[in-house]
Amino acid sequence: MLLKFWGTRGSIPAPLRPKQVEQKIIQILETAAQKGLNLADGQAIRDFATDFAFQGTTVGGNTTCITLEIGNELIIFDAGSGIRELGNQLMNPQNPLAQRFNFFKGKGHAYIFFTHTHWDHIQGLPFFVPLYIPGNSFDIYHVHEHVPKALVRQMEQDFFPLQFSQISASFRFHQLEEGSKIEVAGAMISNTELKHPGKAYAYRVEADDAIVVVATDAEYNDLGYAKLRKYWNFYANADVLIFDSMFSVQESFVKEDWGHSSALIGADIARESNVKRLLLFHHDPTSSDEEIMRVLEETQEYLKRKGQPLPEVIVAREGLEINLPEVGTASDFQMDEYVRNGVVFLKLSGKFGPHATQRFKDQIEQSMKTYQTNKIILKLESLSELTTAGIRVLVDTRRKLDKLALVGIPAEALQVLEWASVTNFFLIFDDEEAALTALNVK
Ligand SMILES: [Zn+2]
Ligand SMILES: [Zn+2]
Repeated sequence: MLLKFWGTRGSIPAPLRPKQVEQKIIQILETAAQKGLNLADGQAIRDFATDFAFQGTTVGGNTTCITLEIGNELIIFDAGSGIRELGNQLMNPQNPLAQRFNFFKGKGHAYIFFTHTHWDHIQGLPFFVPLYIPGNSFDIYHVHEHVPKALVRQMEQDFFPLQFSQISASFRFHQLEEGSKIEVAGAMISNTELKHPGKAYAYRVEADDAIVVVATDAEYNDLGYAKLRKYWNFYANADVLIFDSMFSVQESFVKEDWGHSSALIGADIARESNVKRLLLFHHDPTSSDEEIMRVLEETQEYLKRKGQPLPEVIVAREGLEINLPEVGTASDFQMDEYVRNGVVFLKLSGKFGPHATQRFKDQIEQSMKTYQTNKIILKLESLSELTTAGIRVLVDTRRKLDKLALVGIPAEALQVLEWASVTNFFLIFDDEEAALTALNVK
């Protein structure tokens, strides 16, 4: 399934101020100068912009809207101002997303789940263009009884020029029982109550062998075992936990009953729940991108001092996509390729485990095709972990490739190969020169 963020701010949309844009331009130009970027080279500029990624851009200013694509189904969580951009993309026939769901043809269908009806979670709905195309249909799920009424009320004449009754698409409302579990769009979806003024609900989605939990607008003021156990269970083993980290820890203690939490509390809860990725979400509208990045760094630093396993911490920002269950593999495991004397060198770093095997196989195949060679040297000095899954794919690759050599095996990985009794099966060298000579002589 594909998870995507369309709005990650809390409370009220918070567009960048002109002064902030100016500061970003200065920061970007300074970095470009340090890196010696050639401003006459268009491709170099585009590469630089891609590398600069988050720092040079922004978490965005829109309020809560998240989508999950599961097969041919689309699930939307909340209709904050982020849903307006989702609607615009769905209405653009050139856009692949639009082509997948056909809302622009009046043949679209989506599920919308509401966590609660505070403004920042419903205010984008009247601006969601697919609503005004006859033929489109929506199944709306909610736990609070008042959700249909609130959606109608925010479009009364005092607040908006069009009435809810003027929406052309068809709606079906489904009130969920608190704590229930249903099957929708090929997923099992359960809910639980979050402590928040007027209550909010978290949704746990299990599909495609992955688990995503949307748990925004939540306060955890009692951090004792008895109160937290319920959340640990609900968030247990999630691939992604979307967590309300609007406040600092200090604010979360002082602003009691405001209904929000902090990144550090999220880090502890994610750890206790064996969560793989903690997504910092519902950013305070007054927080700058730099402040949010600082919170990210502090949270990572805080976690580093704890025992394994640790969740990866990521800032949720507009446009961020996470493919599940392959989540995070890009950062866990990396491959860098270069060619010397007709031999492909592939440097593997990080965890060589179950998430890495398919990518490794694809890479080997592609390298052999691209360089028309069957000589490959795997450089392993940066492997942090080698598991049985990694060994298995190494053995399979070696079976097909008699000119596969391993160099720079870390002591721990070598020990694992010995336990598996496969060391004799590989050509192992201390350094790449020796491996290169051996492969080219044979
Ligand atoms: Zn909110
Ligand atoms: Zn709220």
